This record gives sequence, structure tokens and C-alpha cells, in this order.
Amino acid sequence: MRVLIIRTFALLFAIAMIAAILVNPDNHSSAMNLNPDNNPLLAKWEGPYGGVPPFDRVQIPLFKPALEAAMAEQLAEIQKIANDPAPPDFENTIAALERTGGTYDRVTTLYGIWGATMASPEYQVVQREMAPRLAAFNDQITQNEALFKRIETVYNSPAKAKLNPEQQRVTLLYYTNFVRAGARLDANAKKRLSEINQQLAGLFTKFSQNVLAEETDQFITLKSEDELAGLPQSLRDAAAAAAETKKQPGTWVIINTRSSIDPFLTYSDRRDLREKAWRMFVNRGDNGGEHDNNAIITEILQLRAERAKLLGYPTHAHWRLENAMAKTPEKAMELMEAVWKPAVARVHEEVADMQALADKEGAKIKIEPWDYRYYMEKVRKAKFDLDQNEVKPYLQLENLREGIFWVAGELFNFNFTPVTNVPVAHPDIRVWEVTDKTTKKHIGLWYFDPYARAGKRSGAWMNAYRTQERINGEVTTIVSNNANFVKGKPGEPVLISWDDATTMFHEFGHALHGLNSNVTYPSVSGTAVARDYVEFPSQLMEHWLSTPEVLQRFALHYQTGKPIPQALVDKIKRTSTFNQGFATVEYLSAALVDMKLHLAGSQKIDPDAFERETLAQLGMPKEIVMRHRLPHFLHVFSSDSYSAGYYSYLWSDVLTADAFGAFVEGKGPYDRAVADRLRKYIFSVGNTVDPAEGYRAFRGRDPKIDALMKKRGFSPKS
Ligand SMILES: [Zn+2]
Repeated sequence: MRVLIIRTFALLFAIAMIAAILVNPDNHSSAMNLNPDNNPLLAKWEGPYGGVPPFDRVQIPLFKPALEAAMAEQLAEIQKIANDPAPPDFENTIAALERTGGTYDRVTTLYGIWGATMASPEYQVVQREMAPRLAAFNDQITQNEALFKRIETVYNSPAKAKLNPEQQRVTLLYYTNFVRAGARLDANAKKRLSEINQQLAGLFTKFSQNVLAEETDQFITLKSEDELAGLPQSLRDAAAAAAETKKQPGTWVIINTRSSIDPFLTYSDRRDLREKAWRMFVNRGDNGGEHDNNAIITEILQLRAERAKLLGYPTHAHWRLENAMAKTPEKAMELMEAVWKPAVARVHEEVADMQALADKEGAKIKIEPWDYRYYMEKVRKAKFDLDQNEVKPYLQLENLREGIFWVAGELFNFNFTPVTNVPVAHPDIRVWEVTDKTTKKHIGLWYFDPYARAGKRSGAWMNAYRTQERINGEVTTIVSNNANFVKGKPGEPVLISWDDATTMFHEFGHALHGLNSNVTYPSVSGTAVARDYVEFPSQLMEHWLSTPEVLQRFALHYQTGKPIPQALVDKIKRTSTFNQGFATVEYLSAALVDMKLHLAGSQKIDPDAFERETLAQLGMPKEIVMRHRLPHFLHVFSSDSYSAGYYSYLWSDVLTADAFGAFVEGKGPYDRAVADRLRKYIFSVGNTVDPAEGYRAFRGRDPKIDALMKKRGFSPKS
């Protein structure tokens, strides 16, 4: 299954989005032929670059018949392999499996893109119906006994030793994935397993749609200048625009999503309104009534525990981590615990700084969670004389895009040329062809969808529309980066924050991971790596934003065209470890609760009590709340993908910090020899090598935690 690659704060693949594109079902039913023979979503992609996605032909009523036909087609392909009278070998079993599902991949790619960027109520109906059916389809493949026998035979055959390393790895992954999915269970257990998976798929969809409903239905309306106190003009404009969409003309609306709430908590002088906004946001999914997620969580956890037992693992966490780089929950816990205490110690220092400032101002308050971002910003100004709004005029979206292109040219010899001869899902989306600077060879396509719009989920993410492979001749990749910047007026540059610029480099890192892919088999291509390894290439690329080469060339003032002054860059650098206590603790508390929840086994869990008690045991600072409280923790409850896996961002960051050291120890960030090693051992190999081995080949040793602690400004002894 395809999973979007996302930032810590972004949501997951399965999340439907705000329902603004209301489609009248009568508009198209008469004109549309739902016969699979004519369904355009099933057709091979046509056009230049080996074919491109037919965005111009997608209509929601086409999805269900297309998914049904694609599932049927793949099942027939699978059955043919399972029934093959020839003795099983790599070619007629594993490679043959790699050749199946072309239609299914194309359809689910479009289905996923619509889920993330065009999810109307009409789409959500299809999603509720199809989620359990797609889960059952996956089980039908992994539970096919004849097929598994063949895979097992290839895996255990002495002939395996004669396969090349990539083929051996693909064989290993097929075998272990099938076993992990229950291929060895008896018929009764398999049946129960499939029931569990289908129930879970339904619960995941319900959980996501509940969160979406609370983010859509709840908001705060500001009615007077007095209630806008402290908000910068850009925020007032955004709130006025939100009021239009919520049909509250003449007011300002703070909507219940992170991109709206966080800036409000940072700048609003009205403490009472900050508290109100904070409470609304942290209680999503926890308000009783029809969109309350607590009972759903209890049910999900029980089903996961039952499934883990059925599959022979002590807990869901053990099952999930077995094929991750960490391998065991204990290894992941060890890392989290090593970072937790120093991070908490730093939070106490940060709170002391904030309290001192509040006392000096005569605020007569004690710092509460809804004060953290507000006073943090004041301390930043007081301590470092850095106003975030001073940096913004130098960060023009289009210039930074040129900046990341330039970095990709320096590190990987890529060249980017805009193309207009391919369909896009929305007129705001632009496409570039990626070629090799020297050989001019076509490498892939990069789609850029930068602006927020109705029907698109919040956050930023990368998605691969097609992965690189060469099992039947060279197939080049198609990748996309997606964000939610507010589109400026025509002709005006879009200015973004330093954080947003970092995110751009991060997501582009995922895109480069896909574009550099150089493998034979599609299932191990590009970003199809372990969950706790996939954020490593992306987090690594964040480092290049602050290089003088990028800033001097591309961080140009939107009015004067002058590069960002060195003094300002120095200030940004000095603040690089500022507020890392808060950032680490709000993230890590969520990661620890996620892991402990999935280590708890089959006991019936009350999410509210579990969250409260676990945080108390951890010594959670009372001024901070988990980045995602359980009733809206979409990473964990909208699919299995990041469950017992939220630690992955920290795990990957250990590699990131350590890997950048290789450049520092060399000739700097643009050391071509180090970049060549990076491409050879990390960016091009996909999942064809074990990640720990790949890392060792790049760095000459295993990763150390020291660089991470230094990057975040923590002392390991505190
Ligand atoms: Zn990421």
C-alpha cells in the first residue's frame, strides 16, 4: 500500500479533507460510463515521459468501479502465479509477483491523491465503503496458501544463494511480509485475522473522519479589534479569509487546525482567548457526542492486541518494530529515554526564562500551556533580538524553490526544467522535468502543489505517483511535493517563514530520495524503506537551507533584491537550539505514550486514564501537552502505518545529525565525494540493502547519538 511521507505534524494518507468541493451527483452520472471497459482510471497512463497520470479524467463515481476492477485483475494475476504448474523459482514467483498490480497501483495512486487533496463529502462516502474492502483484498493475497508455498520454497531453496543481492533481499522481504501478515496461520486464525483487519480499516476511517469533523465544525469567531490584540496583519488577513469560508462576514475566524491555532497562541495578547483556542484544539475527538474517539481507540487497541497474539507476538509494538531499523520496542524506548530527561530539564529552564519575563512585565500569571508559545516568542526577541517577521521578507517561495533545485544540482547533478504538456489536478499545480546535467538523461517528473485550497488536507507531504524500476525496461519516477502556503495576490511574491522554508527542504529531501532511486524491483524502490529510516534523507536535506551558498543566492529581499544580511543569519544560527526543550518534549511525550500504549497488551484501555497516568509517571512538565493527544492522534489511529512508530522521527534524526557530520568533517555541505557516497549508499538504494548496512557503508561506522544531542543543545548528563 502506498503511504504518503509526512512531517511530524502532518496527517496521514487516509485522512479525508474539508468538504468544500460539493459535487452534485447528478452532474455527471448521465454522461459517465461506469463500465470497467471504458473507465479511464483503469487505462495505461499515456503521454510523454512514459505516460503521466490522467488528472483531467478523474471523477469520483469512477473510483469504486475502478478499484473493484483493479482488485479483480490483480487477484487473477496472483492466482495465475499460485497455479503455475512449473516448480517455483525466483523468476516465475517473486519477479512475477513484482509484475502484478500495475492497474491497482495506478488506480490507488489517483484515489490517494483525491483523498489527500480533493476529499469532498461524496469522496468520503466512497472511502467509508472501500476501506474495509481494500483491507480484505490485501488479506486475500497474503492468505493465498498456494502462493505462500511457492514464496517459501524460493526462500528456502539453495538456488537463492545464486541470486543477486537485490533479488535475495526482495525474496526475504516477500517471505517475511507474508509471514508477518499471517500466511502461516491455520484457516480459522486466518479468517479471524481478516475480520480484525476489516474492522480496523472501518475504525481507522471513522477515527479520521471524526477528527476532520471537529476541525471543520469548531472554530472561534473574533468580533472586535480588542479580540485581535497582538495579531500581525498576515494573521488578521488569514482570519478574515477564514470568516468568509465559515460564512461569518465582518468577523475574524480562528479555525481548529494547527496552522491556524499555533500562530494565534504565539501572538494573541488575549490570554482568555488563548486558553479558549488551546482547549478547543487539544480536545479534538474528546468532546463526547457523535465525534468522540475514545471508544474507537479502546476498540482499535483491543483488536491490535488480539491480532499480535494471533500472529505470535507479545504485543502490537513487537509486531510493528520487527521489520523496522530499531527491530525491538526496547531499542526504540532506550533512545527515547536517553533524550527524555535532558529535554525535560531544558523545558524547566525555558519555563523559568518565560516566568521571569512575565514577572518583569508584571503579568501576575503562572505559565500555563496556552502561554508557552506566546512567552517563548517574547523570550526569543529579548534574548536574541530576533523577530521572525524580520526574516520573512527574504524568504520568497519561488526563490527557495530555485534554491532547492540548485542544491540538487550541486549534490546530485540534477537539472530542473518546467513542463506544461501534462495534465494537472488543479491549475495551481506545476510540473518540472528532472534530467542529469551532464548526460541530459531523463530522470523523472516533479509535481509541485504549493497552495492551500478547499478540499486539501493541512501540512506538507511528499507522494510518489510512480516509482522507478526496470523489471520490464526502464520506468522513471514521478514524485510530488505538497504544501499549504497561502497564495498571494497575482504578481506578488509569496513570503514564507523560516520553519516553512525548512519544511520545503525536508519534503524535497523525500522527493530526492525518490528521484535518485536506481533499483530493478518496484517494491524496494525509492522511499519504500523502513518507517524509522524514511525520515532520514528528508531531515538531512533540511541542513542545506542555512548554508551561505543558498542564503546568498536565494534568500533575497522581495523589494530590494539584496541577500539576507549576515548579522541576521548569525542570529538565526544562534537560535538554532532555542526552544528545543518544548519541541522535543511535546513530540517525545506523544511518541512514548504511543509506544507504551502498544506495549500494554490486551488489557482494556481507557485512553483518557492511560494518557494521564503515563504522563504523570514520565514526569511530563505541566506547561506542555502532547503534540497529539490520543483522541486525535491520526499517525497512530488513522492506519497502522505510524502505530508504535511515532518514535521514527527521533530515530531518523539520530542518523540525520550524525550523517551531516560526514560533510562537516569533509570539505563542507557541498563536498562532492561525500555527496557521491550519500547517493550510492543511501539515496539510490531504496530497500535493496538493510538500512543499518547502508548507513555503515556511507559513514564507515554505526550512528552515534552525540550529534543529535548537540544539534538540540542537550547535555546527555543532565
Ligand atoms: Zn518527512
